[in-house]
Amino acid sequence: MSTSAPALSQASGTPAAQARACALPNLWLPYCQMQTAPLPPTVSHTQGTSLFLADGQELTDGVASWWTACHGYNHPHLQQALLAQAGRMPHVMFGGLVHEPARTLAARLADLLPGELERVFFTDSGSVAMEVAAKIALQYHMNKARTGHDPQANQRRRLLSFRGGYHGDTMGMMAVCDPEEGMHALFGPALPSQILADLPTSPEKLVALESLLSTQGHEIAAMLVEPLVQGAGGMVFHPPEVLQTLRRLCDRHGILLVFDEIFTGFGRTGTLFACQQADVVPDIIALSKALTGGMLPLAATVARREIFDAFLSEAPEAALMHGPTFMANPLACAVANASLDLFAREPRLEQVAAISEQLREELAPCRTLPGVRDVRVMGAIGVVELEKLDNAPELGRRFMQEGVWIRPFRNIVYLTPAFTITPEQLRKLTAGLYRVLKAELTQQVRSKQSPPGKTHSA
Ligand SMILES: *Cc1c(COP(=O)(O)O)cnc(C)c1O
Repeated sequence: MSTSAPALSQASGTPAAQARACALPNLWLPYCQMQTAPLPPTVSHTQGTSLFLADGQELTDGVASWWTACHGYNHPHLQQALLAQAGRMPHVMFGGLVHEPARTLAARLADLLPGELERVFFTDSGSVAMEVAAKIALQYHMNKARTGHDPQANQRRRLLSFRGGYHGDTMGMMAVCDPEEGMHALFGPALPSQILADLPTSPEKLVALESLLSTQGHEIAAMLVEPLVQGAGGMVFHPPEVLQTLRRLCDRHGILLVFDEIFTGFGRTGTLFACQQADVVPDIIALSKALTGGMLPLAATVARREIFDAFLSEAPEAALMHGPTFMANPLACAVANASLDLFAREPRLEQVAAISEQLREELAPCRTLPGVRDVRVMGAIGVVELEKLDNAPELGRRFMQEGVWIRPFRNIVYLTPAFTITPEQLRKLTAGLYRVLKAELTQQVRSKQSPPGKTHSA
């Protein structure tokens, strides 16, 4: 099989390779081995659920830019909100000043979120929203200890997270990602040691978690979990009852429960927030990805009233010690407000239900392909898990030749389209996905069957 995709660097030193290296002389790309990866295409513009490449090709987007662009690209309502806010006030510091777009957005989020999740701290990325969640949890217990409410709380300095989880790329969050699947294994020795457990998805795992908590529960400040779907760790689903179990265990052991809804928030799993399917209210929730409908970076960490109250004191050091420069950027807040308008006035959750049904039906044939381990759908997330996938970038290139933008990672090929995608466009994604996988997987079977060294035509 030929895998001679154009590479990014001048590894081979040939004129062609050097020309490719010249195409991107200054950029450093994410999660990308730039010596061997195919040269990424340049996107010139977007519209609806399409990406238009500089060479004129149109790709139907199956990823929605890492799940952010839930209303499709260039939505006029978001664009108008952005322009109007840019004319009034693009940015102002949030230290010692507040503004209407942030106040409105915080009130609307508090209104939409269940229970007493009502104090909103704005940041500009998901990783940092989770860092803030962890800091809130740690400082909450310190404050409890300081006021004498719970003298033992000072021992709660560690975080518990789950195998398969992903919470971001910063130093603090790398320490709570799955050590193997979290893409950070290399950094392990440099990270603080946190506690890793299996999600209690079976009676045996529940027993293991209970026994871990009975010995170490008093050291744990917070338990971090992506509710219902572990996203970047492999698009693995678990049932809502697991979250009810975690709530019960956290309550029993005095641990704060943090839901990382950066991926699942804003409709992706079929309800506005994943926690609603379990009827569980976490102590802290982190939101980002689709918060601005994919237009601008913004994140929110929202805490229950009781958590916030533990920071109220005469003591200055009891205040939350965090404050990003671009916190609560007014442009981003205005666009997020406009995105919430769309959730209120357009039938987004009905659209997600329809996407779900269509994904279920149209991805089902992938089950019959050799080397497919699982096909699963939740809300507007469709996943085909393979036994193995050797060359995800090359597969990505074949998807592009089919006119679809699908970005496989590890052994996962998934669709997370915009909620506004039409049935025809979604059909194009599922059909392209099936065609490319079928060709790839039957090819893999064939090359396995023929003894190595023998030539055969593909
Ligand atoms: C994307 C993601 C993050 C990290 O967000 P960034 O904005 O990339 O820092 C954290 N948690 C989950 C569940 C995510 O999907």
